[in-house]
Amino acid sequence: MKQGGRKNGTDTLLAHAGSEPDDNFGIVNPPVYRASTVLFKDMADFARRGERRYSGFSYGTDGTPTTFALTGAVCRLEGGVGTLAFSSGLAAITLPLISLLSSGDHLLMVDSVYGPTRRFCDQVLRGFGVETTYYDPLLGAGVADLIRENTRLVFTESPGSLTFEVQDIPAICAAAHGRGVPVAMDNTWATPLFFDALGHGVDISIQAGTKYLGGHSDLLLGLVTTRDQEMFKRLKDTKDALGDCVAPDVCSLALRGMRTMGLRLRHQGRAALELAAWLQGRDGVRRVLHPALAGDPGHDLWRRDFTGSSGLFGVVLDTEDPAARAAFVDALELFRIGFSWGGFESLVVPADPAPLRSARPWREQGLLVRLNVGLEDLEDLKADLRQGLDRMRKL
Ligand SMILES: *Cc1c(COP(=O)(O)O)cnc(C)c1O
Repeated sequence: MKQGGRKNGTDTLLAHAGSEPDDNFGIVNPPVYRASTVLFKDMADFARRGERRYSGFSYGTDGTPTTFALTGAVCRLEGGVGTLAFSSGLAAITLPLISLLSSGDHLLMVDSVYGPTRRFCDQVLRGFGVETTYYDPLLGAGVADLIRENTRLVFTESPGSLTFEVQDIPAICAAAHGRGVPVAMDNTWATPLFFDALGHGVDISIQAGTKYLGGHSDLLLGLVTTRDQEMFKRLKDTKDALGDCVAPDVCSLALRGMRTMGLRLRHQGRAALELAAWLQGRDGVRRVLHPALAGDPGHDLWRRDFTGSSGLFGVVLDTEDPAARAAFVDALELFRIGFSWGGFESLVVPADPAPLRSARPWREQGLLVRLNVGLEDLEDLKADLRQGLDRMRKL
């Protein structure tokens, strides 16, 4: 992409980043370069393979020009120094944990974190002698009191992708940095479009590209971006040691998704917020969990730090009866039951956060469902939810 004097806007970046038609026969999209073996010109070139690892490639696991088209574009979107691509969002989360923590170290992990991240701490890190303390997502600067001599990382996710608490990321970063501890963030919900993680002080910004970047429910991808070259090299070394990588075909699909990401995200965000407001106060609904709703406990922090909201939110149904929740979910025709989110189609999953909490117990009355709002007509989605609630109340 040609560099003008003026800094381009995000949509311009999404439309053009990673595309180099002048170097590619005028073809708009980067080709899919598939590779295991990368040849060296001569022995002198072979001797330089070590340096090439950080900025180029020497073997297929480093990626190919297709991978670099994607990671370069994401890096610009994030405003970082380097981006690494992984085979899934979860692989992108576990990488910094493995890289920065070793036996005897301590990790501060937000209590509202994505379930599989918690499972990794409890099963794998514990087995390796790393201690995890879960902290209250509402703690903010108070995390300073939990930092120990051996604390090596503070991990955040805001809002929590099941219960939607918003964290005070700048306060947490200030507290952690004051003690020389880096901060990682799972920024999958807002994406760099709606929350500037690195700009707010985060050292390692993580996105499950599976969700809004891919956007079409047909790929798995994780992305890790740092704002510091030393950190980038450290994570890259661990990635190479582990052997995780993503196929160039997936990167090409992700680049295609990226072109429309801004449009999709804004549309889905608006539709989700309208549905959330419409659900609030309806018969059968106890509480709607969506930080962009005025009156939500996280609303003030969301307003201060975020520039938009995405298409995922929670609804606490006004029932304690699992059969009533099942009747609601089963009655839905457009919201199909399924994990993942960020795709073009609406989804619903029942969720029970209580067993996943320890620092701030989940005591909400009523049963939770999580909705992913897709690109369908808003009135159709509303009608679907209306008939679901009717069915639930008739039970
Ligand atoms: C889905 C998700 C992930 C993991 O992404 P995968 O590609 O499915 O492994 C990580 N964090 C959050 C918040 C997610 O919703």
